Amino acid sequence: MTHDVIVIGGSYAGMAAALQLLRARRSVLVIDAGQCRNRFAEASHGFLGQDGVDPGRIAAEARDQLLRYKTLTWIEGEAVAAGGSRDAFEVLTADGIRHQGRRLLFATGVKDALPAVEGLSDRWGKHAFHCPYCHGYELEMGALGVIATGPNSLHQALMLPEWGQVTLLTNGALMLDAEGRAELQTKGVQIEETPIARLTGAADAELSDGRVLSFAGFFVATTTSPATPLAEEMGCALQETPMGTQVQTSEMKETSIPGAYACGDAARMPHSVSLAVADGAWAGATIHRSLIFPDL
Ligand SMILES: Cc1cc2nc3c(=O)[nH]c(=O)nc-3n(C[C@H](O)[C@H](O)[C@H](O)COP(=O)(O)OP(=O)(O)OC[C@H]3O[C@@H](n4cnc5c(N)ncnc54)[C@H](O)[C@@H]3O)c2cc1C
Repeated sequence: MTHDVIVIGGSYAGMAAALQLLRARRSVLVIDAGQCRNRFAEASHGFLGQDGVDPGRIAAEARDQLLRYKTLTWIEGEAVAAGGSRDAFEVLTADGIRHQGRRLLFATGVKDALPAVEGLSDRWGKHAFHCPYCHGYELEMGALGVIATGPNSLHQALMLPEWGQVTLLTNGALMLDAEGRAELQTKGVQIEETPIARLTGAADAELSDGRVLSFAGFFVATTTSPATPLAEEMGCALQETPMGTQVQTSEMKETSIPGAYACGDAARMPHSVSLAVADGAWAGATIHRSLIFPDL
């Protein structure tokens, strides 16, 4: 069977795209490995109507609604190769089965590169975050530690006083010039240049000189890159953004390969559930139009 559309990635963006296509009675195959980016967090914030809800529950409810459409095929598993061209794409899943589709959509998300700070990965999504809009409010205007990763951390530290009292832990990753120091001072941001030895407790930073700084939470400007190399391996062009690397698309969400599309964190910035859903809905509609009108 040749599906109208194969969607790789069945999280917020992929499901939003699939929903538009299913409502147009198109056949859609969703292949999903179940590793949505915010799986480390207990609650998702800022998505209208679902504020403070478990991210897994948001995804599960959406999937239940999608499964009511008879033209949906859902595979839990990993796509390991993709190739082909418009009207004749093929995706190989890890179980060795090949799937055919007229259009292909990468809604595969990104992965976060965390700095090598002992104890950080254990606290990711619980006491350490990248996005203040997602998790800043819950820290109750408390003490916030920004663990520097590079120049973006200066920007992050300058924003965060909106959410609490900020200390920028440069940790050898950020050289501050006089201008940067002055900007931080104006915003009331403390600068701590002693390296971090490890994170302990809920959100404590033990420094290399033995001092321990306690925070309500940490923020880290991570560098992102595609969660899977599939689009790149297939030949889709990538582009650099201030946040990392993403799949390059047109405004219609089409990649550099005609008929292959990308949406969500994988192909836009900045990143959030709301923005991924909007991007996915738009990709679903533009893919549908391309199936109706051959010239699009
Ligand atoms: C710790 C943390 C907390 C966050 N909290 C919030 C929040 O509170 N509010 C908010 O709005 N945003 C939050 N975000 C951002 C949010 O998680 C992302 O913007 C959102 O998940 C993007 O959705 P997406 O569908 O594009 O990608 P993802 O949710 O990352 O989903 C990608 C999907 O593709 C699948 N996939 C990838 N490769 C393959 C493959 N080869 N085969 C099959 N499937 C594949 C994955 O398994 C996954 O299911 C948070 C992010 C992090 C890191």
